[in-house]
Amino acid sequence: MEITIDIHLHGKYSRATSPYLNPETIAQAAKIKGIDVIGTGDFTHPLWIDLFKNLEERDGLLYGYGSRFMLSVEVNNVFEYMGRQLNIHNVILTNSLESAYQILDVLKKYGDLSKDGRPNLKISMMEMMDILKGLNRKTEVFAAHIWTPWFSILGARNGLREIKEVIDDRLLAVETGLSADPNMTAMTSAGDFPIISNSDAHSLDNIGREATRLDVDDISYDSIINAIRSKRIVKTYEFYPQEGKYYYDGHRSCNIRVHPNQNNICKVCGKKLTIGVLHRVIDLKDGKTRPVHKFQYIIPIKQILNYVMNSNKIETYYKALIDRYGNELSIYDNFTKEDLYNILGKYGEDVYRILKGDIIWEPGYDGVYGVFRLKNDKIIEQLKS
Ligand SMILES: [Zn+2]
Ligand SMILES: [Zn+2]
Ligand SMILES: [Zn+2]
Repeated sequence: MEITIDIHLHGKYSRATSPYLNPETIAQAAKIKGIDVIGTGDFTHPLWIDLFKNLEERDGLLYGYGSRFMLSVEVNNVFEYMGRQLNIHNVILTNSLESAYQILDVLKKYGDLSKDGRPNLKISMMEMMDILKGLNRKTEVFAAHIWTPWFSILGARNGLREIKEVIDDRLLAVETGLSADPNMTAMTSAGDFPIISNSDAHSLDNIGREATRLDVDDISYDSIINAIRSKRIVKTYEFYPQEGKYYYDGHRSCNIRVHPNQNNICKVCGKKLTIGVLHRVIDLKDGKTRPVHKFQYIIPIKQILNYVMNSNKIETYYKALIDRYGNELSIYDNFTKEDLYNILGKYGEDVYRILKGDIIWEPGYDGVYGVFRLKNDKIIEQLKS
């Protein structure tokens, strides 16, 4: 059977996240988006985990609020390597509340878990893996948004060239992040690992903006992990890499955005540009061909509606589309021209063209999201701001 998962997101106790992110609202959002198993996020946060402790446990997942949750938490591993300090974001998954509380109890020695839902931990990935596997061999770790500049295993700041420099084959998978897709990832040795996609949502609307569809034997923790490890990935839903905040090189404060084949130095301030994801992939590609699962580029439906129409109608049309297709991801799988014309009237044509990818991008850079517009469309003033 096929299920869709999104197992990297955050709750209200993480930095820079929405106060509306609680278990109940996350479950509701997962349903509207079409996510069958959603991560709890932030399970090492003592207040956050307590919000899940009364949920029913079954087959390694938690059931409640009309959804299924997988225990997940993102941590920032801070450690020395070859004389420099690395910062790498990783997501831990586990299969019971008991195991989650044990992990919390051990990891608190390495950082203040109550300060942030995504804690800084002074421990290497290898040492953390040893500890986690020692506690419960079913606990898993995957590398988060592996290409982003500041806090990722292959990002420019850390400067690693191989995942194997800091972790072994026990690593479950790599996550593309918003500014990369599976094809880009598979051009490098990172593509030897299973490639998954998750939303990394910091707000309810962003849940499911990337997701992974798996071929599983049943809906259980073990089946999901097995499907990832054996690369039974039916498809991933992906941001267009150009939309991600770190696709091109650039300087946000200087308004400089450049393709990586240009000079690394900012022509406004003279400092080094923030090196984007495309640059890193070009640097690390190894010429090998690796199989890549099917994937589909998507743009959040509300964002599309916001482009084509006046803002006070967006919720109404969004709801009409969800009513027709059951959930948001199903729109991308099943949309027809006829439906869109029926539901959206005069906006149907533009939405159809955007969903078909008849668009061009101003790529994202240095923390600024990329912006699309319809081919041949006039540039709307708001898009420039
Ligand atoms: Zn992260
Ligand atoms: Zn995150
Ligand atoms: Zn600059």
